[in-house]
Amino acid sequence: MEVFLAEHMGFCFGVRRAQEMIEAAAGEHGSVSTLGPLVHNRQVTDRLTQSGVKVARSLDDVTEPVVAVSAHGTPPNTVREAERRGLRLIDGTCPFVGKAQEAARDLVNAGFAVVIFGDPNHTEVKGILGWCDGKAIVVPDPDSLPARRPGSKVGVVSQTTQNAANLQALVAAIVTRWLPELAELRVVNTICYASVHRQEAAEALARRVGVMVVIGGADSANTARLREVCARTGTPTFQVEDSDDLRAEWFVGHQTAGVTAGASTPDWVIARVTARIREFS
Ligand code: SF4
Repeated sequence: MEVFLAEHMGFCFGVRRAQEMIEAAAGEHGSVSTLGPLVHNRQVTDRLTQSGVKVARSLDDVTEPVVAVSAHGTPPNTVREAERRGLRLIDGTCPFVGKAQEAARDLVNAGFAVVIFGDPNHTEVKGILGWCDGKAIVVPDPDSLPARRPGSKVGVVSQTTQNAANLQALVAAIVTRWLPELAELRVVNTICYASVHRQEAAEALARRVGVMVVIGGADSANTARLREVCARTGTPTFQVEDSDDLRAEWFVGHQTAGVTAGASTPDWVIARVTARIREFS
């Protein structure tokens, strides 16, 4: 099997930055708790566990004096509560997530009701919601847009890992359904450049290979978007977390395979999966 790699894939700036900050803190303090997993990738969290990084589901689970916020960010009340408890906070929030939080907060301060385009169960979206002082709704897809507008002025921000075409579809649905009753509609495109580049590269590769493999955690939002854009091209697309998940039958009848990987997939996992695919015929 001939294997081609996407031009942009794997660890992004924000994940690398958060991992380095948290590993350095664990080295300095012996151990650190992260609020939720640093990233949605089992191999990365396993490695961090070996470096003394524990995962806490909430501040109540934190047993160390040092607590770290993941690249996905956290609501401001969690930061305040950590400070109130005397915890030392390492803020690994990706600067692009921080910009989405600020955009949402600024919209609320300017009197807008905010629509957050994203997965309501994702840590990043819960964090952005926390910056909106209760004046926001989360909409996961255009079909879920409520019939009634949430206010006379509506602002839109996006989960950083969303797909631009999906955001366009949501904005089009808002214009169609709500615009006649709106005084103002403001859209802030908060999709990060790493997601844009990875999705564009994945789509381009999917158009020229027989089968696509997307590597990333089952809970990883940006990996889900990569799978979505590849599948949209019509090329058979499969998602794996590691080489053990690959199935020989996926490659039967194909001479070429493309590989892309989510923003939290480490290089060594990409190398392992790619080597295994090359063995298929
Ligand atoms: S995917 Fe984008 S927003 Fe998320 S951590 Fe990476 S660079 Fe930051």
